[in-house]
Amino acid sequence: MGITIALDGPAGSGKSTTARKVAERLGYIYIDTGAMYRAVTLAAIRRGIEISNLPLKVLVQSINIQLEQSPNGQKTLLDGVDVSREIRMPEVTKLVSEVSASPAVREAMVKEQRRIGKKGGVVMDGRDIGTVVFPNAELKVFMIASIDERSQRRAAELQAKGIDVSPDTIARELEKRDELDSNREISPLVQAPDARLLDTSSITIEEQTDIITTWANEKISQ
Ligand code: C5P
Repeated sequence: MGITIALDGPAGSGKSTTARKVAERLGYIYIDTGAMYRAVTLAAIRRGIEISNLPLKVLVQSINIQLEQSPNGQKTLLDGVDVSREIRMPEVTKLVSEVSASPAVREAMVKEQRRIGKKGGVVMDGRDIGTVVFPNAELKVFMIASIDERSQRRAAELQAKGIDVSPDTIARELEKRDELDSNREISPLVQAPDARLLDTSSITIEEQTDIITTWANEKISQ
């Protein structure tokens, strides 16, 4: 059994990559909870569901989302089919914050996240992990980075996949999503009072991984 590590923060702050690397070093499982909200959004788009609480409640009761650990990171399955690529499509990104503001969607996802993480030995990244999903997590980190840095990173990531989007366009999308995520009524994106703040604007992924692994090892040896 290991500790629970909650990594929260705005979009593009480097959470997912860092969470995956920290999990690798500690031999823990890594859970990207954003992928779950993205999978619900993809299902809603495919079925033409209206984005409001009741239709989304019916939707989440009728779909099955599974997260699988693979050597290349987490795989996301929707009704048994691998949708890891589709959930990153711009149409999904555009709608995901509206979908994840639905109380019914959050209730279903949080329940599943608690089930997956209940034994500990997990690094979970998201927006509400340290505040709502695992308020008793032994280590909570709130990661931030400047909007310039976040949009440059995202642009480079997309470019590597052959998708050309200007950092300016990305900056607007990230800011809009952060605003929606921070101002929603339930489980808004907010730093837990007992979370450690990590500004990743001018440090590398390797450095972020080292810092969080050191904090985790301090907790593990306590
Ligand atoms: O982490 P990622 O950017 O993929 O998350 C996509 C969206 O899912 C976020 O913008 C947010 O609306 C939602 N989300 C959430 N709670 C989480 C993780 C993600 O509301 N724990």
